[in-house]
Amino acid sequence: MQAAFCVLCGGRLATVVDGDRERPGCPACGHVVYSNPAPVAMLLARDADRLLLVRRGVEPLKGFWAPPSGYVEMDETVEAAALRETLEETGMEVAIDGLEGVFSAAGLGIVLVVYTGRIAGGRLAPGSDVEEARLVSPMEVPSQRGPFKGTELDRWFAGLISQLIGAPSLDRAGTSSSVRDPSAHGAGLEHGYGNGHHDM
Ligand SMILES: [Zn+2]
Repeated sequence: MQAAFCVLCGGRLATVVDGDRERPGCPACGHVVYSNPAPVAMLLARDADRLLLVRRGVEPLKGFWAPPSGYVEMDETVEAAALRETLEETGMEVAIDGLEGVFSAAGLGIVLVVYTGRIAGGRLAPGSDVEEARLVSPMEVPSQRGPFKGTELDRWFAGLISQLIGAPSLDRAGTSSSVRDPSAHGAGLEHGYGNGHHDM
């Protein structure tokens, strides 16, 4: 939802031309309202061959198994957000060892930055915003069906999570193949940046 009034002077916002594009802006004081996607940090943490997953307790994808993740706060780095969210959601301490990739789709409002890491300590204890936290072996990665009536963000996020954790069955009956392939959603999608083995 776009604000109707200027946060600086209280004037009514209108559409203004800023460089080559039209944006909401304040004709009275010249303030321009920029709208940018928010960074979200995610961590693929492993202990030997097991992957740390949570069953999400909040939307989007409430009830889905996914790696721990959350919005980056203004006073922290993206890496710190990944570690904080993982600790909060699972009780596990992790050492980041690389970048899996940066994933986004036009219009969805987030940029997902996914790290890889190794479990370094802690004890499994699900946080308040997850329903469960577990270390799962590759054989145990839960099959889960996509949110076929969900929002575009739900579908994109489900496909991406499936790809990241190797979930086997987002392509069950009634789905379109695009559910499994995030690249099929949204013009301008860019993903796969990074090879997973960058030094931090
Ligand atoms: Zn103003």
